Amino acid sequence: MQVTQVTEKLSKKQRAVFDLVESKEEFKNVSIYESGGKYIVGQYNYDVVNVPFEEGLPRRESIDGKEYIVYDIKVQAPPRLHGGFWIRGVESVNSTMLLGRSAIIIMLILVPLILLLTALGGYYITKRAFRPVNNIVKTANEISHQKDITRRIEIEPNSKEDELHHLSVTLNKMLDKIENLIKQEKQFTSDASHELRTPISVILAQGEYLLDIAKDEKEKELAQTIVDKSKQVSKLVSRLLLLARIDQRRQKFNKDKVDLGVLVDIAVDSMKELAAQKEILLFTNVPEGTIVDADESLLLSAITNLISNGIKYGNESGHVSVSASKLGDRTEIIVTDNGVGISEEHIDKIWTRFYRVDDVRNDEDNSNGLGLSMTKSIIELHGGEITVKSSLGCGTEFRIIL
Ligand code: ADP
Repeated sequence: MQVTQVTEKLSKKQRAVFDLVESKEEFKNVSIYESGGKYIVGQYNYDVVNVPFEEGLPRRESIDGKEYIVYDIKVQAPPRLHGGFWIRGVESVNSTMLLGRSAIIIMLILVPLILLLTALGGYYITKRAFRPVNNIVKTANEISHQKDITRRIEIEPNSKEDELHHLSVTLNKMLDKIENLIKQEKQFTSDASHELRTPISVILAQGEYLLDIAKDEKEKELAQTIVDKSKQVSKLVSRLLLLARIDQRRQKFNKDKVDLGVLVDIAVDSMKELAAQKEILLFTNVPEGTIVDADESLLLSAITNLISNGIKYGNESGHVSVSASKLGDRTEIIVTDNGVGISEEHIDKIWTRFYRVDDVRNDEDNSNGLGLSMTKSIIELHGGEITVKSSLGCGTEFRIIL
């Protein structure tokens, strides 16, 4: 029944009230009830007829799974009309409203989603565009951190031949050339050291012979100089050869179960004489049965070199100690001295080949600035690491983890 038909049956006053209700746009379905709730006229809605009347704002009612908006207005009337009547407007939450609500929900989900997708798309496009730059940076970092000059910039097979592509190709060619130069230089050092070994051994042997047959002090002195210098050069050449072989990954590495206590004793024994000259005491503390997987002769050179440095840069009547302990499946070896120490400005450079803190070359101490770089290379060849802590005037501690 339409609203117009309803109003025809109403009195003038009732119609005025009805007009008032009808003017409310949102209620198309309107019906009128007695004050007791009995239906009089209007759009009869079976679902909401039993919903109690309640004056106030439009409210939402849920009946048998359907949603309605119900608005009740109490109209006061003269006593003959038995206390007035109720006007009820009902609107189902129809598809239009649902559509509106869905639209809001869709907007709430879609807008951020679109924004997210746009951002992701932008990120992907930018990342793709910058991938060659990233590859260049990645390779540069790998080369500088891992010191591996064999690394090359990755060039994607079907990449556009733009400026970045050409830059990557050019840099790779440059790296090829640098790698070749380094290889040639290492080969030269290795060949030169190898070639020098035989003549040096001959000079040393001849010097020792001259020392034996020397007739007077002068001849003895000359022969001794030849012997000392040949030993010095021989040591230098052996170290250079060892470093070149490790660099070229040609160094033989005979890994074995090595008793660290025995190895440290051998190293200390070989240094006793040198220590005695400066009245330096040598201490060892290696628990019995400390076994490491190592190349015995290489590890012996490394530890001997650290003890030798401890004595060389130690104070008269000082001490050098070598201790070891197990840290899980790793072994820690610590060599400490209470010698001159190394200042902060030099500490990072001591591993550099031929670097000496005090650059005044003292022929007598047999130094060549290769000892620590050799030690480091040996430890790294074992997959270990070596670090140093030092305090100028107080002493130095080298810590090896194997
Ligand atoms: P060198 O043959 O000159 O001793 P190394 O490579 O063994 O060469 O050492 C490099 C430099 O590090 C040395 O010149 C020395 O100044 C410093 N150095 C090494 N070990 C010690 C130490 N135990 N105490 C103080 N300085 C040290």
